[in-house]
Amino acid sequence: MSFYDHIQEEDPDIFSALEGEDKREAEGLELIPSENYVSRAVKEAMASSLTNKYAEGYPGKRYYGGQEFTDKVETLAIERAKTLFGAEYANVQPLGGANANIAMYMALLQPGDTVLGMDLSHGGHLTHGHPVTYLTKIFNFVRYGMKDVETGEIDYDEMRRVAKEVRPKIVLAGFSAYPRELDYAKFVDIAREVGAIAVMDTAHIAGLVAGKAVKNPFDYGFDVMTTTTHKTLRGPRGGMILTRESEDLAKRIDKAVFPGFQGGPHMHQIAAKAVSFREALHPSFKAYAKQIIANTHAMEKVFIEHGARLITGGSDNHLILLDASKSFGISGGEAESLLDRAGITLNKNVIADDTRKPMDPSGIRFGTSAITTRGFREEESAEVAKIMIEVLTKRGDATVAESLTKIRTLALAHPIPESFL
Ligand SMILES: *Cc1c(COP(=O)(O)O)cnc(C)c1O
Repeated sequence: MSFYDHIQEEDPDIFSALEGEDKREAEGLELIPSENYVSRAVKEAMASSLTNKYAEGYPGKRYYGGQEFTDKVETLAIERAKTLFGAEYANVQPLGGANANIAMYMALLQPGDTVLGMDLSHGGHLTHGHPVTYLTKIFNFVRYGMKDVETGEIDYDEMRRVAKEVRPKIVLAGFSAYPRELDYAKFVDIAREVGAIAVMDTAHIAGLVAGKAVKNPFDYGFDVMTTTTHKTLRGPRGGMILTRESEDLAKRIDKAVFPGFQGGPHMHQIAAKAVSFREALHPSFKAYAKQIIANTHAMEKVFIEHGARLITGGSDNHLILLDASKSFGISGGEAESLLDRAGITLNKNVIADDTRKPMDPSGIRFGTSAITTRGFREEESAEVAKIMIEVLTKRGDATVAESLTKIRTLALAHPIPESFL
């Protein structure tokens, strides 16, 4: 039986697109570090009748009746999230990571207040104050960055100096394209020194934190964490805001998410979040998180041996940022499309001090969370890195075609597990 029996009958056009996407995900290799494959159980929750239900409000305090089961689902999601991250409070309603960040700003700031966040070209996210976002019309974003791009060390002295000067209300840590662990204690120190709230945007590494493969920012005194649930955490597309201990902050956050910013919660997604959190609490998820990092190290080693330039010199997490211009004499965009033709999906990415334009940057960004779900281990990950180098150095049609065959063979040998289809 197909997952799409009824769509196939009712809507052949959408059916063929869905089938195409399933095939694309199965046959190619997904190296985009913000993507993953969710379990069948997570998909079933997303497809449940809970999508029919309006549940504005929070468990026990809703605007409509009939909340017997929504309350049960949301309470379980909240309790599991708290256990997973060591938080006192959790809001599981944000529709995505951007929504979580916007609600967090609304909860903690007044218009005109200042946020000290990571420079976008050094790995920060759009919602950390990119001029194209509406956020920059409301709040004032000030930057810190790396002191040394070759090691990834953050310039904490400069950060402290700027913090004292601009007196931010939020000191924001976190990134979309930064491969190193942060010195969380220093962030919290600086935040405390200037009376700011310490917030970590854990979107990319939430699964690694949950799987205890990297440090947990709450252990270092961070007040709030925002996150996506669909990246390394391997849940449904969505967001979440966690508060370590302050009930006052948690209350402000709940009000900001609803009614401040969003409408009715997507209860089917919240059920799917709960299912994925239960999966992440299982001991096998720890092994998964650990393997993600082992696989990144296996790829890192091959690239370093080849003499490629990795931003920050390597990686401590699930992602690698590679300077394609310096390493292979091509742009990030050219690297992306060559690898795409060879069955490898990743994305071009701006790198620190990029000499090229943001729309046509020098870097590529890739990661191992999805291939690790497929069961890739160090050996296969190293093999992928070797194939990537072959494609990026030789670049001819014959090499691309040969590499596509190799990638397809690797993908076939490690199909997406049955319980993830
Ligand atoms: C992905 C990401 C987000 C945004 O998540 P969406 O679900 O795409 O809105 C926010 N912050 C960081 C650091 C991210 O990597």
